[in-house]
Amino acid sequence: MLTPLLFASDHAAKPATPPPAAKPAAAPPAAKPSALGEAKHAEAKPAPPAKAATPHKKAQVRHAARASGRDVVNVSDSHGGGGHGAGPQLDPDDILQELKQGNKRFVSGRSMHPRMSLARLRETSSGGQHPFACILSCADSRVPPETVFDQGVGDLFTVRVAGNVANNDEIASLDYAIEHLNVPVVVVMGHTACGAVTAVVNEDRVPTSIAQLVKHIGEAVLRTRRYNPSLKGKDLVEESVRVNVWESVEDMLRGSEMIAARVRTGMLRVAGAVYHIDTGEVEWLGSYPGSLSILR
Ligand SMILES: [Zn+2]
Repeated sequence: MLTPLLFASDHAAKPATPPPAAKPAAAPPAAKPSALGEAKHAEAKPAPPAKAATPHKKAQVRHAARASGRDVVNVSDSHGGGGHGAGPQLDPDDILQELKQGNKRFVSGRSMHPRMSLARLRETSSGGQHPFACILSCADSRVPPETVFDQGVGDLFTVRVAGNVANNDEIASLDYAIEHLNVPVVVVMGHTACGAVTAVVNEDRVPTSIAQLVKHIGEAVLRTRRYNPSLKGKDLVEESVRVNVWESVEDMLRGSEMIAARVRTGMLRVAGAVYHIDTGEVEWLGSYPGSLSILR
């Protein structure tokens, strides 16, 4: 059986590779694989969000949901945080819960397709966008974030690129959403049978134009092979997908001091996930495991 890579209580699978925290960040020494347990505890109790919703605010949101007869917390309707940090933010826990509930609706065939009306278009057109979560995911046509999380127009700030890598352009896009739109949650989501990861695992010939993608994914595959030398074929691809999620998280944290600072102070939550293209389920990997090292 594979050993646990990550820690969050809500992840179901038990990936094989130790935490991807060995590469030196701009600041501090990297964590060792033995720090896994320590990282697990740290993840479970992140720093208190500096701008998180107050209990009163959360109660208001839940009350509003009940009053409207909805069985979900409508995070978007209550998210007043606009550009330049103008409004209150929701608790990242509530946002992740909404994404999980949305995915459950999608998987069970009970999608609500919320906030897709013409009125919503007018609202977001005149009032600007106030997305409550960023999703960095693969460009694969089988992985549409708004659909798999059952969210609507203006809800998710999605950045999609083959292999869900975090390169300069992707990081810049996330920077905009996090700093300007004040988005408090980032989900980096890989997916099963990812063609980009598979190509790197198989060492397929790829166009030179996507060398940067290969470079980032290659780091993840290398790390996977190092810690799991016995993995082959599909198993190697699937584990590399998981490691590649954390590779992107690390690249994002290294590439943006603003993002790292917000994670460090609890203003921003970064979660990893893998989407299963055959079932529609999102497997939650938890929050970034190396946060104790790379963010210090
Ligand atoms: Zn893919």
